[in-house]
Amino acid sequence: MIISLVLATRNRHKVEELSAMLSELPVRILSFHDFPDMPDVVEDGATLVENAIKKASEVALFTGLPALADDTGLEVDALDGAPGVCSARFAGEPSSSEANSRKLLSDLSGIEGSARAAAFRCVVALAMCGDDEVRTVEGVTHGVILEEARGEGGFGYDALFLPDGHDLTYAEMRSDEKNAVSHRGKAIKNARALIAALLDAP
Ligand code: IMP
Repeated sequence: MIISLVLATRNRHKVEELSAMLSELPVRILSFHDFPDMPDVVEDGATLVENAIKKASEVALFTGLPALADDTGLEVDALDGAPGVCSARFAGEPSSSEANSRKLLSDLSGIEGSARAAAFRCVVALAMCGDDEVRTVEGVTHGVILEEARGEGGFGYDALFLPDGHDLTYAEMRSDEKNAVSHRGKAIKNARALIAALLDAP
């Protein structure tokens, strides 16, 4: 059986990453390209879990199809876990990756080496239309925040994040390399069981 699954995000980089990671499953991936009127979900939850659940539920309700959402936060040890759930708007509104990265570097100035430890945490939520229960799984990748951006690929904080055990930043990796080590890749791996349950459902 092939089921349709809507990706509850307007971020085209995320659509590309998630579609590639789900490509081996017998699932037809739909996104905002297929639902141009898909609502913008206000990400006002206090946690990544709350935001992921909200995005997946609202899109499942709107489309009448199972929806998958992710919410990601960059947690920096020296900043007591900030920017965390505020990662998208770390430098304020309107949200800008460049401004967020500049603020991150500025907040970490004077902090060196392993004291720049950080982790990307991704929560993936799967919502079924008409089902109140939304299931969530998580993936975490540890690393350090570099003192200068490196690499042209990816998005968000990718050029500043060097995952532990690797010589390339997320932005220097090919997309398949990033997906193999990334927080989102790990969360999607954990989400496979949830999606498999969907495929088995009558
Ligand atoms: P959200 O999950 O879309 O709310 O992402 C929160 C913030 O984290 C945004 O500023 C994104 O750019 C950033 N972000 C999310 N995923 C990644 C990633 O894989 N690499 C780098 N930054 C990311």
